[in-house]
Amino acid sequence: MCCGICCRMQPPDVDDAERKRIEAKGFKDFLERPDEGGIRWIRRKKDDSCHFLTKDNRCAIYNVRPAACRLEPFTIADYDYEKNRIEVELNFPFSSCCVGTCEEKELVSFQEIAKAAQVMVQKILAATAKDLELPVKDIRVRAETRSRILRRKMEAADLQL
Ligand code: SF4
Ligand code: SF4
Repeated sequence: MCCGICCRMQPPDVDDAERKRIEAKGFKDFLERPDEGGIRWIRRKKDDSCHFLTKDNRCAIYNVRPAACRLEPFTIADYDYEKNRIEVELNFPFSSCCVGTCEEKELVSFQEIAKAAQVMVQKILAATAKDLELPVKDIRVRAETRSRILRRKMEAADLQL
């Protein structure tokens, strides 16, 4: 079972497809207003934890949780758009207490983590293409996507200080 730390640090961003999957389970009114970049985030409770985190540290929408949650405790570290390669790294300081990384047996398959990382990058690519009004495959979209990924990483590091 998860310790819930990730769900208390920063609730995940949600795109339209993820929102629809959660709504299809009967949940409504769970998003913050869009931020400056147009990104929607799952609402936080008064104690700053995710709206869907239960008292016993379970996720109320586990089967339809967003890609960011599927990737935890990893985060996207870099995106080499020329080689189409995504680099992930363990979120500090979660890595030392995460049962998912301390167990000897594999709790989540490498393929599942890789898929979540791909979905995360696709989401940022799509949002960037929309903002720049360019096709997703345009090199400027891919370069800006990498910049956004690096900025998000720095912002997340600041939050953990
Ligand atoms: S959606 Fe679920 S897994 Fe994701 S942060 Fe919220 S409680 Fe945690
Ligand atoms: S640190 Fe690991 S066990 Fe704790 S909430 Fe994150 S993924 Fe789950």
